[in-house]
Amino acid sequence: MTTQEKITFNVEEIRKQFPALHREVYGKPLIYFDNGATSQKPQIVIDTINRYYTSENANIHRGVHFLSQQATDAYEEARRIVQRFIHAQHEHEVIFTKGTTDGINLVASCFGELLTAGDEVIISGMEHHSNIVPWQMLCERKKLKLKVIPVLDNGELDLEAFEQLLSEATKLVAVTHISNTLGTINPVKWIIDKAHTAGAKVLIDGAQSIQHMPINVQELDCDFYVFSSHKVFGPTGTGVLYGKEAILNEMPPYQGGGDMIAKVTFEKTTYNELPFKFEAGTPHIIGGIATGTALHYLSSLDQEAIHGHETDLLNFTQERLLETEGVRIIGTAREKTSVVSFIVDGIHPFDIGTLLDKQGIAVRTGHHCTQPLMDRFGIPGTVRTSFAFYNTKAEVEVFLKALNRSIGMLR
Ligand SMILES: *Cc1c(COP(=O)(O)O)cnc(C)c1O
Repeated sequence: MTTQEKITFNVEEIRKQFPALHREVYGKPLIYFDNGATSQKPQIVIDTINRYYTSENANIHRGVHFLSQQATDAYEEARRIVQRFIHAQHEHEVIFTKGTTDGINLVASCFGELLTAGDEVIISGMEHHSNIVPWQMLCERKKLKLKVIPVLDNGELDLEAFEQLLSEATKLVAVTHISNTLGTINPVKWIIDKAHTAGAKVLIDGAQSIQHMPINVQELDCDFYVFSSHKVFGPTGTGVLYGKEAILNEMPPYQGGGDMIAKVTFEKTTYNELPFKFEAGTPHIIGGIATGTALHYLSSLDQEAIHGHETDLLNFTQERLLETEGVRIIGTAREKTSVVSFIVDGIHPFDIGTLLDKQGIAVRTGHHCTQPLMDRFGIPGTVRTSFAFYNTKAEVEVFLKALNRSIGMLR
């Protein structure tokens, strides 16, 4: 789509596309501020799923018949939409997975197979559990060493410490692009360049960046980039692993089964080419297709305008929260987007979340799958508001009033 064709950003028009935003909860209009956990779906994605199961359902890559070929074409077209969306060089560098967690586990298992005792993996102190535990499991299995980039008080990574951690032994650096708990945008391009200079590969956890900023994997020069469809307005149970062709070719397959083979005999099996080598079994076909629909929809909108709108929401919320007595924002990095985590003196985050819920406002409370980060800040959890481009300042106003009311009730 050319720039001229892009629809000008109009939040009210956009909200009309998302039916779930118009429902009520406990008799109050829903205010959905839990987009960091999962996003709502536009009608066009719902229609795609509905149409597929209503009249287009068939297995892919196998059948000679019409429906199977149509489904195969739709699935492979979705792969090309992903390719264009993230600016991958080749479509076979796009592997469909179950989600971010699955993509990271794939890399930990398969890239991990190439590593040997004494090699080192670097992650950061603000990773989601799904970018921690697979590496711990790998390090235990292969006798590798796991190192962690510390987090500064403002929620930025300690980049000097990162440079100290890098060495010839470093084989992989796995970091999140944007923290799901703090909203910090990490300088991943800089991290990737430093890691490459040391001879290490880099995995970027894009679960929180794909929906908030333009992604160009070739410009970033990352070796792997993973995301979940459900956080970028697509369905659950589907995600994407991007990997550079040369590295993916080097890696052994993840799981064995149908679709991932070229030829099977009891003596020896040869594997299929990319991307199928990593896609054993019948995939979540409609998940892949609807991922394409979601990304196509998103790319029809003005990304700069979306970013501007989300930045406005973030700044407005943070300024107003700082005026609220007893509120402390966790994560005050210079580069942030779409996530505001906070705690209130003497009140448990869960109690605030519960009272907000009764007023129709969906926020997340707890550790947000980042327990080590909570330990770093010495807190059990936070209240987290996380925005999507369909949220509005009016909603933030309602939220702030409800928050003040809740604090009043709990004091
Ligand atoms: C949500 C999230 C994940 C895990 O995604 P799943 O969809 O649960 O696999 C990983 N990393 C970050 C930063 C996330 O926000």
